[in-house]
Amino acid sequence: MVRELTHFIGGEHTPGTSGALADVYDPNTGEVQARVPLASRAETEAAVADAAAAQHEWGEWNPQRRARVLLRFLQLVDGERDSLARLLSSEHGKTVADAHGDLQRGLEVVEFAAGIPHLLKGEFTDNAGTGIDVHSLRRPVGVTAGITPFNFPAMIPLWKAAPAIACGNAFILKPSERDPSVPLRLAELFLEAGLPPGILNVVNGGKEAVDTLLEDPRVQALGFVGSTPVAAHIYATAAAHGKRAQCFGGAKNHMIVMPDADLDQAVDALIGAGYGSAGERCMAISVAVPVGEATGDALVARLKERVGALRIGRSDDPEADFGPLVGREAVDRVRSYVDLGVEEGAELVVDGRGFSLPGHEGGFFAGASLFDRVTPDMRIHQEEIFGPVLSVVRAADYEEALRLPSEHPYGNGVALFTRDGDTARDFTRRVDTGMIGVNVPIPVPVAYHTFGGWKRSGFGDLNQHGPDSIRFYTRTKTVTSRWPSGAKEGASFTIPTMR
Ligand code: NAD
Repeated sequence: MVRELTHFIGGEHTPGTSGALADVYDPNTGEVQARVPLASRAETEAAVADAAAAQHEWGEWNPQRRARVLLRFLQLVDGERDSLARLLSSEHGKTVADAHGDLQRGLEVVEFAAGIPHLLKGEFTDNAGTGIDVHSLRRPVGVTAGITPFNFPAMIPLWKAAPAIACGNAFILKPSERDPSVPLRLAELFLEAGLPPGILNVVNGGKEAVDTLLEDPRVQALGFVGSTPVAAHIYATAAAHGKRAQCFGGAKNHMIVMPDADLDQAVDALIGAGYGSAGERCMAISVAVPVGEATGDALVARLKERVGALRIGRSDDPEADFGPLVGREAVDRVRSYVDLGVEEGAELVVDGRGFSLPGHEGGFFAGASLFDRVTPDMRIHQEEIFGPVLSVVRAADYEEALRLPSEHPYGNGVALFTRDGDTARDFTRRVDTGMIGVNVPIPVPVAYHTFGGWKRSGFGDLNQHGPDSIRFYTRTKTVTSRWPSGAKEGASFTIPTMR
């Protein structure tokens, strides 16, 4: 029996009425395990109206009281981590251990947002002019929305929802239609934690729901994470409708391996960051850049052995290094990129195309592939593959290696493996990307640091996490006040200056 999922609006599970449904698969078997309703314009507008009605009162709660809801939510999630991780894994296909990490990184953002009484403190200047004080308030923006991708169905909704609601906004989450069950459960837990109904509404859907959120004047701010073409569309459309938007897109992350790097450490890092979660991470390393032919030969020899030995299994197999991809179309895309790399003349060192898991022939499994001698102009280097494929682009020297991520259209993350502090310092200052790891392969910062990609990986000026998330979800109101005895002395026709 296939479950039919709902929306979550006004604190209640709300069945879909549009008649449009999308299949939610079990990626281990390829079978449909649930159907998710796709909201129509009218259903989405009803969720916005509900959020707008609830927001004002929530925005008037004192910040400490709002923080207590977040703290209670953390406790509730803590009590069911394992079932949430299993649910996440069963729809996404990442291993249960990795699903725990997905949840944990999201909870860390909630922990950060629970500091909202401190984070919301504005600015104050005493006696900016004689008898004049200036202070600023951070006010909620109102109704906000988040549109999130399939690949982190717990972490990314919480990147957006936690700061948005902590700041006193209502938040409408439009999660990925491919793995919506964890976002729905998180919304239930927020309600149980004391969040008023309507402050976190989950609207399932696709383009129609998103376009409605983009066009509805009651939605003031939109956060998006997903692929670059959709990020660019959402950024432009939100701006055209006068909304603030932060939109994060795809990536092609390089890892530069200097001749002095600890090669064992670099290979471990590449294996985990390249193939973990089957490469379906925006911060996955998809390009290894050894510097010098000798480094390249040694690196490829070790990678070949390790990639060939990776264990691919069911997502609930505790021995599996990675599980299936999210869908059949993802398997087909990965396969066609491997075909393309061969056509483009790259050297296919490990070929994952023939992989199939015995007993799970219908599952969305893709084997691990490794390319050597990829050149910068090849499409397998220019485009995001989003699967278990690592390309080695050899660089003759450090300057050539530095140019590869700097000149790439994406600018999400990059890593450098070296033992030399001077090289690391030069690299971090000059490379043209938003996140940099020095001997750290996946440099997604802790929740209290702001981060985001550059170039085609990020649109908008404020980033996610940390202080920027509080700026994004609040508007500044600045008050200049004077209580002088001479206030009744008459009008002044010159612009006030602070003498
Ligand atoms: P996607 O762009 O297909 O979907 C993201 C969201 O947008 C989903 O909620 C989807 O329903 C919606 N959507 C899809 N097409 C739309 C359209 N035409 N109009 C309006 N809405 C639409 O992305 P995905 O496949 O779910 O996620 C993978 C992508 O996300 C990868 O490119 C990955 O690099 C990127 N990603 C980026 C970051 C980051 O921080 N930069 C983090 C995670 C994932």
